[in-house]
Amino acid sequence: QAQSHGGNQYQFYQAEMKPISVETLAIETDLRRAIVADQFQVLYQPQIDLKTGEIIGAEALIRWHHPERGLMSPAQFIPIAEESDLIIALGEWVLHTACSQGKKWHELGLEPIKIAVNLSARQFTQIHLKPRLLKILQSTGFNPKYLELEVTESVLVQHVSSTIQIMNDLKALGIQISVDDFGTGYSSLIYLKQFPFDTLKIDQRFVRNLTADSRDAAITLAIIQMAHSLNLKVIAEGVETDAELAVLRQNQCDAIQGYLFSRPIPACEFEVFLNTHRTLYSR
Ligand code: C2E
Ligand code: MG
Ligand code: MG
Ligand code: MG
Repeated sequence: QAQSHGGNQYQFYQAEMKPISVETLAIETDLRRAIVADQFQVLYQPQIDLKTGEIIGAEALIRWHHPERGLMSPAQFIPIAEESDLIIALGEWVLHTACSQGKKWHELGLEPIKIAVNLSARQFTQIHLKPRLLKILQSTGFNPKYLELEVTESVLVQHVSSTIQIMNDLKALGIQISVDDFGTGYSSLIYLKQFPFDTLKIDQRFVRNLTADSRDAAITLAIIQMAHSLNLKVIAEGVETDAELAVLRQNQCDAIQGYLFSRPIPACEFEVFLNTHRTLYSR
């Protein structure tokens, strides 16, 4: 069933009447071929420890070089992949790529860094997650204690007891878990004591107004203090200015990620960073 929806855009409706645009269908079709066609790339954004100024980790962020559409950001295709099983294969490709890259960096003999990989809710709850992760860790030789999985609050509001079980299983392998975009979802604070997280990532929407809006500063400070009282680490996302950095340091934020130090960059550029600017600023 197709229906006109303003202009000359048509929408198709699934059984549950969720609109799917022609554009979405086209992207989904292309996504199915994109892994085999080698159109994806993983970029890495450094995470910097605020006490030492050292790069302590890298977040793996996917990009799609679409043959006609050009460079596509994850916001343009991850939600589409999440609507189907595609996210499983795509997510596994990212995990494999990031772990094998992490292994290479560890082999450089530098202080080992952590690799953080984003996991969709759907990936998190698939029954084969643990065996698949084990297989990836085994085939890449990456030490699981340096792997961090980033989940959003959407994972937490699913089935609480089974999610706790999954997280404990992963933690038993040595894997760390962080909550991405913290403070922007629908979960409640009660989850903070129930789930075995290691790190909270303060969303960039709080960081963005840190120096202009005292309310955002108050929220950020409260998150940091609460996290520390619960023995969690805090990393701030989207740090773009020295002023933001100063406020975060002053409030004992543990680490940051943001354009101030680097955008997400290809592995080869990241390696130059590791070799030459391991410490991004002095104490
Ligand atoms: P995220 O996990 O919260 O990642 C942080 C996003 O903020 C990234 O956008 C990053 O490029 C951007 N960013 C970092 N520093 C700054 C800054 O200083 N200023 C601004 N304005 N932005 C900054 P990106 O790479 O476009 O990714 C967007 C989202 O897509 C991610 O948000 C994550 O939710 C999702 N995503 C990315 N890669 C994957 C993946 O491999 N799997 C899954 N499931 N999701 C992914
Ligand atoms: Mg993330
Ligand atoms: Mg985030
Ligand atoms: Mg996000």
